[in-house]
Amino acid sequence: MDKVRTLTLDDFNQTIDEAKVTEINIMSSDKIKLNQTLIVIETNKTTVELGSPSDGVVSKIHVNVGDSITQNTDLCSIETYNILEDVIEIANKNSESIETDLVIVGAGPAGYTAAFRAADLGIKTVLIDKYPELGGTCLNSGCIPSKFLLHIVSGVHNAQHLSDYGVKYDEPYVDLRKMMQAKDNVINTLNMGLKSLKTKRNIKFIQGKAKFLDVNTLSINTGEHNQKVKFSKAIIATGSVPRKIPTLDIEDSRIKYSEQALNIQYIPERMLVVGGGVIGLELASVYHGLGSKVSIIEASDTILGMFDNDMVDPLLTKYENCFESVLTNTVIDNVNVSSSILTVKLKQKSSYITEKYDSILVATGRVPNTHGLNLDAIHLNTDEFGFISVSRNYETSIDNIYAIGDVIGNPMLAHKGSYEGRIVAEVCAGARHGDDSNEPLLPFVVYTEPEIAWVGMTEKQKNDDIEVVKTSWSANGRALTQDSSYGLTKLLVNKHSGVIVGGGMVGPNVGEMLTELTLLIQRKITVQELAAIIHPHPTISETIGMCAEIYLKEAIEVINTV
Ligand SMILES: Cc1cc2nc3c(=O)[nH]c(=O)nc-3n(C[C@H](O)[C@H](O)[C@H](O)COP(=O)(O)OP(=O)(O)OC[C@H]3O[C@@H](n4cnc5c(N)ncnc54)[C@H](O)[C@@H]3O)c2cc1C
Repeated sequence: MDKVRTLTLDDFNQTIDEAKVTEINIMSSDKIKLNQTLIVIETNKTTVELGSPSDGVVSKIHVNVGDSITQNTDLCSIETYNILEDVIEIANKNSESIETDLVIVGAGPAGYTAAFRAADLGIKTVLIDKYPELGGTCLNSGCIPSKFLLHIVSGVHNAQHLSDYGVKYDEPYVDLRKMMQAKDNVINTLNMGLKSLKTKRNIKFIQGKAKFLDVNTLSINTGEHNQKVKFSKAIIATGSVPRKIPTLDIEDSRIKYSEQALNIQYIPERMLVVGGGVIGLELASVYHGLGSKVSIIEASDTILGMFDNDMVDPLLTKYENCFESVLTNTVIDNVNVSSSILTVKLKQKSSYITEKYDSILVATGRVPNTHGLNLDAIHLNTDEFGFISVSRNYETSIDNIYAIGDVIGNPMLAHKGSYEGRIVAEVCAGARHGDDSNEPLLPFVVYTEPEIAWVGMTEKQKNDDIEVVKTSWSANGRALTQDSSYGLTKLLVNKHSGVIVGGGMVGPNVGEMLTELTLLIQRKITVQELAAIIHPHPTISETIGMCAEIYLKEAIEVINTV
């Protein structure tokens, strides 16, 4: 049965030859009520408000303001509540408890991967999330929306930059409503895909907030009632939430965390980004690209402190040129909120600066999302920062309860969560996960412009057995054609065996090239083997092969010192 209803004028009991869309009052993923005005249209005689024929959730908007429509034009698609069959079916069993082999709390990349794999392994699985959509932070308010917006600002930047080559565009006009709708459409497409994969696997989904009653029972608050789920095994995959800092714990819509910052309602003139980590820098790039004057402050002495300095330097140079300021060793002393402006007193060691901003983005790290799970009731161990402590097989201190994803600690990355989801499902099916030697590498990408990508050992971690070889992109043909001669590629090599143990790149789109480095390092490839691989010309990937040739003193494009 088709669960989504696509509405035309017939569904609103309207018979009209032709009309124009004058207002769209909904966005994808909006929950809507019966009779709520969705779209306003104008005919040559009158204005008509199209009220929703049922409660539901908007899954797609097919028209834009200004479009001409006729009787059969698809206006929008909605999912009506009564089609969320599995949720309702469960809701109707209000008083009964459900019994299952496995319950998973949290439907982010860690949780839904675990659920899908467990179901494929024949385990009866119930998946719970407080939101109706699967995908968690990553899909709904993290990786995907941020990358969508970064893609847009990269387009703006590239268009502006073309003026250096004689092609000039007018200043961009930004229609935020359309941009947010397009972002929501991407999210929605992926949401629908996950929902369909879940349904085809016969996984029960319950929307509600879960808390443990004991080591075999969860209570789910669905908003209307409490549903009990009795389980043999449970996986906690509740993710993380932004860390709040006391000086900024103020109720004011101009003080935002990443989730609100990704739902852009207006472009602030001056914005302060608090935190020079990955999330802060990516969102700083988005707002700068849309026209805000951005300043970044960071409490420690460097931004992106986990990377080698030479990987971060090209980014810092660019930021120092285009942002108002990038201040390290700087914290917020206090904030004064008035209706017109946010006045911020910044502390740098013993001196103070006062600045005025229209908006503040707080990106000071993330903490485990265990609040409300009632972990005390089951005496489950957490570490000093509140992350759930687990073994190599993701077992917690309670035999039948496992934990994966952001909730077990750093690095908080979607691909780490989904890897753990796959493994833990196999553990629940009886497999053991082996020892550390089988552990795959975790690649890191910062999607700023330029991007930074790294895998394996860094120079900061190296010992005397490791040699570093680098090549700048200044002589790489492809880099020069796309104005990225500032880029850098670097490998860390074991002097004795020639095996590559770490590697990174900084420059546009290097995230897409990181898998070559990951493969080299994970498969313990030597510089000799790398030098024997032919890289296509002209590509930036030639710099990876070039590092091996430089290491072996065989490079053609440089003078080798013997
Ligand atoms: C702005 C931003 C950009 C990011 N970009 C990237 C990126 O480019 N690449 C990358 O790898 N990572 C990125 N991340 C990190 C990534 O989003 C997380 O690492 C990933 O989502 C963690 O997955 P998870 O399944 O552990 O948790 P989450 O995705 O947070 O999912 C947890 C789920 O649990 C649910 N939940 C919590 N408590 C309960 C409860 N009591 N009952 C029921 N449900 C509950 C939540 O509703 C949520 O859906 C980004 C994060 C942010 C904020």
